[in-house]
Amino acid sequence: MDFSDSLLDQEAQRLFIHLKKFEYTLEDCKKMAMTTLEIQYLKKKKNVLILAHSYQTPDISFGVADELGDSYGLSIAAKNTNADIILFSSVLFMGETAKIINPNKTVLVPSQAGCSLADSITAEDVRALRKKYPNAGVVAYVNTTAQVKAEVDACCTSSNAHKVVEAMEQEQVIFLPDRLMGENLKKHTTKEIILWDGVCIVHEEFSTADVTAVRKEFPKAEILAHPECDPSVLQKSDFVGSTEQMLHHLDESDSQEFMMITECGLTDRARQEHPEKQIVGTCFLCPYMKELTLKNILKALKNPSPNQIVKIPENIRVRAERSLHEMFALEKKYEKKFGSTNNKWKENFS
Ligand code: SF4
Repeated sequence: MDFSDSLLDQEAQRLFIHLKKFEYTLEDCKKMAMTTLEIQYLKKKKNVLILAHSYQTPDISFGVADELGDSYGLSIAAKNTNADIILFSSVLFMGETAKIINPNKTVLVPSQAGCSLADSITAEDVRALRKKYPNAGVVAYVNTTAQVKAEVDACCTSSNAHKVVEAMEQEQVIFLPDRLMGENLKKHTTKEIILWDGVCIVHEEFSTADVTAVRKEFPKAEILAHPECDPSVLQKSDFVGSTEQMLHHLDESDSQEFMMITECGLTDRARQEHPEKQIVGTCFLCPYMKELTLKNILKALKNPSPNQIVKIPENIRVRAERSLHEMFALEKKYEKKFGSTNNKWKENFS
């Protein structure tokens, strides 16, 4: 594809405005301008909506994405789009969730990137758990494959996990696949929680030593943590919530310094949205999320290979969608009874 020098220059300048705060140079932006222009051109030509998870790199998030967010929020947003094609720049299970909710759209995933949580459990494992605990209800965090979602009673997100588990009829609940999130849940539910041994390799990396180091250097910093972290880390944090809840808290808080105990993509997004606030401390990169590049996005738009087009057998899709619908039903049931307090992760934490 041919673009004039002036168009390429204009595109490099546009990218530079968005990316200079992430230490991209104008030279870096010039190198990527041809690719981003081609992506913009194909987006328009094929009527594509590009969704990017908040853990994507800044060149994707601020260079080509139409919407940024968490996996489930983006899949729901895609429901209202007039686009013919949804390209989900993220790990495979998120593209599957978009397809489950939007079966009539073509959903593209640029890479087949896995996830330590989603890959830790299979549909067969869930069937075996059901046999072992015949009286238990089964709740799956949305970070699971379509096949696993199809086997469970309900899904949950990191923002509504507590409500969903509490609203289950059963007193015994198998919570999968995130062991650490399940251990955190145990602290504020009366249900008997049976855990699966999956972990997010990014959030399990954080330790109380990281928190202590920031408290020492930045005593005024507010520490925000994701519920996929170890309970000891949550206990030492000031706020616990999903990626979107963390960003919302940052919007609302009067503090000027924050540590965000999560993936580096989210801290980049926070820096972009709040240049007036200082994000301190450490963050970790998710190697799966970083498999996504401008190059594989362009390839998927230009001429997708069969494995870049999400396909889910209809019998599995329908059952997985039912588990997602059940999540909303249970959330509503809980809120009807107890109100809609939106962040339970820090309550009753001891
Ligand atoms: S950050 Fe954790 S949960 Fe998210 S894709 Fe990476 S490994 Fe999976």
